[in-house]
Amino acid sequence: AQRSIKDQNLLLEQRVTERTALLADRESHLRSVIDNVPAMIAFVDADQRYGFANTRYQLTFAPGDRDLTGRAVCEVLGDVRYGIAKPLIERALQGQSTTYDWEPFPGVWQVIQYEPKFNAAGGVEGYYVLGTDITERRKMEAALRASEARLSRVLEGADQGYWDWDLQTDHFQVSARWETMLGYNPGEMKIDVTQWATLIHPDDLPKAMRAIEDHMTGLSSKHEFELRVRTKDGGWRWILTRGGIVQRSSAGVPLVMSGTHTDITRAKAHASELDHVAHYDVLTGLPNRRLLSDRLQQMILRADRHGWQSAVCVLDLDEFKRINDQHGREVGDRFLLGIAENVKAVLRGEDTLARLGGDEFVVLLSELGSAEAGVQVLERILDTVRQPIQVGEHHLSTSASIGASLYPADHADPDTLLRHADHAMLLAKQGGKNRYQLFDPETDRLTQLRLEQLHQLEEAMNLDEFVLFYQPKVDLSNGQVIGAEALIRWRHPERGLLSPGEFLPCLHGSDLEQPLGEWVIKTALRQIETWAAQGLDLPISVNVSAHHLMRPDFCDRLALTLGRHPGVRPSNLELEVLETAAIADMQKAVDTLNQCLALGVGFSLDDFGTGYSSLTYLRKLPVQTLKIDQSFVRDMLTDQDDLSIVQGVIQLAAAFRRRVIAEGVETMEHGAALRAMGCHLAQGYGIARPMPAADLPGWCRQWQRDGIWRSLCGGPGSEIDQRPSVEPLTQH
Ligand code: C2E
Ligand code: CA
Ligand code: CA
Repeated sequence: AQRSIKDQNLLLEQRVTERTALLADRESHLRSVIDNVPAMIAFVDADQRYGFANTRYQLTFAPGDRDLTGRAVCEVLGDVRYGIAKPLIERALQGQSTTYDWEPFPGVWQVIQYEPKFNAAGGVEGYYVLGTDITERRKMEAALRASEARLSRVLEGADQGYWDWDLQTDHFQVSARWETMLGYNPGEMKIDVTQWATLIHPDDLPKAMRAIEDHMTGLSSKHEFELRVRTKDGGWRWILTRGGIVQRSSAGVPLVMSGTHTDITRAKAHASELDHVAHYDVLTGLPNRRLLSDRLQQMILRADRHGWQSAVCVLDLDEFKRINDQHGREVGDRFLLGIAENVKAVLRGEDTLARLGGDEFVVLLSELGSAEAGVQVLERILDTVRQPIQVGEHHLSTSASIGASLYPADHADPDTLLRHADHAMLLAKQGGKNRYQLFDPETDRLTQLRLEQLHQLEEAMNLDEFVLFYQPKVDLSNGQVIGAEALIRWRHPERGLLSPGEFLPCLHGSDLEQPLGEWVIKTALRQIETWAAQGLDLPISVNVSAHHLMRPDFCDRLALTLGRHPGVRPSNLELEVLETAAIADMQKAVDTLNQCLALGVGFSLDDFGTGYSSLTYLRKLPVQTLKIDQSFVRDMLTDQDDLSIVQGVIQLAAAFRRRVIAEGVETMEHGAALRAMGCHLAQGYGIARPMPAADLPGWCRQWQRDGIWRSLCGGPGSEIDQRPSVEPLTQH
């Protein structure tokens, strides 16, 4: 048994030794592991002395020493570092786990963790220290922070907010500026993309979605658009958003989209203000000329496309100047406002009322079913303008004159349409105001042409391109040359010699008639003097247009002209007045003729027989001569009716004791017939064509020498037929 106890002891001892060796082995293994992890590990006891510190810890804080066991923490760390760690150490010794970052050496950062160790009774025996070097991580973080700070400074400087959209989760992250832009406090908005969409103005949402979709599907490399976003207080701000996909998966799937927001509300407001000033009239708020021109263009395009009728109308108030003068500018302005409102009220939504300035407005009527529909609107407008308007204590009223051009009847460009309407408006004014006038494209074309021609005629006058030709009048009974009719010609630099039929009709009724008529009279008077100086005493008749004759100062000016030619006997001047002109305003004609008679000049009624003047008129008119119209004379040898008229006129003249002369005597046969009927005064190609003044004295001598008239007594046509040489004396 003794042996067995001894054996047992031996065995036990052996086992203990083995265990101890095993434990030592394990400890050294653990120790080597702990020494080789890339972290600082230590244990500090309640007296703040190291119970243990691994190699890395010891190399970090006491590189010169071998073993820190038993050494005081304050001594190993040094005063400065201990000063920082002390409160945290104390907390650990009170049983709290503690973690902190610190910079024990310049440029070296560590995260330190204290973990208290409790004994069985719950008291704190000490604490474990775990330290990790985080210098690299810190450097990266610092760099990141710096770049973030830079980015936000840039964004802030540009007053931009930015946003981040996680396309996987639809999480939407925004910057503080993004929030304040919309009136929120920083950090207040926590929204996802669906909520974000509800803040977008419904009118702008489709545009925004389209832009983003285009970008997502690769149609655009970035997206950029303007939209209105609702603010916290329910208003709207204009935002310019720019963005794009900033992150994709390795398979190319978009992961994150981000971008910026800029508040462009002010710029937008400014732009729309500018737009308003540029396109609207300040007083009435109606479209101005510029916007009108856009609208007009649009109207024409639509009219062309849909085959609609449209109208451009110019409206001008008739009495606005009086109102303005009587009541002052302010009342005038308010009156205009009232008119604008009233007119607007009778128009439809698709029509446009614009103000060109002053009291001139333009109305565009589009989509008219017919011209009549347009006319009805014009009548409604005239009606509403006539309604009195109350301004202060005044009841003011006026009327309007409207000119309208209908499209496409007047198929012109916008400017021309407007000009035509304006032209028609002037006609409405001339027609007595308070009315509308439709523009007539055909009349206008002629007016244009006429204005052009008038201008050329004026030029011709200034350049002295007119001349008078003279056609002799003779007495067939004795061969005497009793006078000459002055007939105007235009020596046109390109077209040659033009007869009055080619340019006088254009002159009719114009202001140029008087100066030209006066030129003719003056030239004729000078011609009488010239011929008189050559020993030829010859009366001249000149044609006077009705318009010229009816001017109130006709006689006075004629008297003045005669006064400048004292050598001319007034009875040597005869005025030929168209019968039709004389009967248009009989009383006035009679007065004028009587005044001129008093000056000594004589009159003949030209183209007699064409004007159907009654015998009463003929008795009243103080004319000495009736001139049988050439149309009757020309055909009287073949046309019995014309012959009767010629006969009638001759008898009439005899009854009223007037001289009678036949014009258009083309052959001596005509001359003989006339003589036989009792009319021996004649003028016509059969005697002589109109000729330049210089040729006339020569012609007179020749005429006397030839003595053709003598043969007329011997019966119609006897000798004359063998004498074709009568005509070619002139050079037409
Ligand atoms: P009118 O006063 O009846 O003048 C006569 C016209 O008949 C002239 O035409 C003359 O050349 C033409 N004539 C003369 N004999 C004959 C003839 O035997 N056969 C035919 N077929 N024609 C003949 P003209 O010179 O072309 O003048 C045309 C009209 O122009 C004149 O008709 C007159 O009304 C107007 N006129 C001419 N000169 C003046 C003028 O100085 N002032 C004004 N206001 N009118 C004028
Ligand atoms: Ca005449
Ligand atoms: Ca005539």
